[in-house]
Amino acid sequence: MEKYVPDIYQKSIYTIDYDKLVNSGIKCLLIDLDNTLVPSNTIIVNDKLRKFINKLQKKFKIIIFSNAFNKRVKKIADELGVDYQAFACKPWAYGFNKIKRKYRYKEGEIAIIGDQLQTDVYGGNKAGIVTILVNPLSTGDAFFTKINRYIEKRKMNKLYRKGMFTKGRYYE
Ligand SMILES: [Mg+2]
Repeated sequence: MEKYVPDIYQKSIYTIDYDKLVNSGIKCLLIDLDNTLVPSNTIIVNDKLRKFINKLQKKFKIIIFSNAFNKRVKKIADELGVDYQAFACKPWAYGFNKIKRKYRYKEGEIAIIGDQLQTDVYGGNKAGIVTILVNPLSTGDAFFTKINRYIEKRKMNKLYRKGMFTKGRYYE
């Protein structure tokens, strides 16, 4: 169950203490797309996000790391001017290994930010990188995500009963 507990838990990408991440040695951020960067099923990048990612790029290598298919991920990555890995197959090792091989960061230099326990947190913890959970931007989820949410709810309840994680109690 420890693999389901994020290292950091924040409201959104905007409330994370990025300086603290820099100081702890993080150089590369893998950021989930749907419901982390933008609400799922939208391809619109707003000004706030554009400026924010621009600033973040001065501190980190930013890679959109998504299970979604290439076309949608590429469109948003191109608009933001960042790298991407589509069809990342989270929580499996496939995408994480690809990133490690391609960019040559050490495990301790990579963090993943995402809105799902099942894919982003569990996958990231298994890959040995820092995991950051944020709240989903919208309640609309893709079909497979709906199934994941059901499992996630049960996982969260179990973690709560074990005193390992409480929804809404943020920490750094
Ligand atoms: Mg997501």
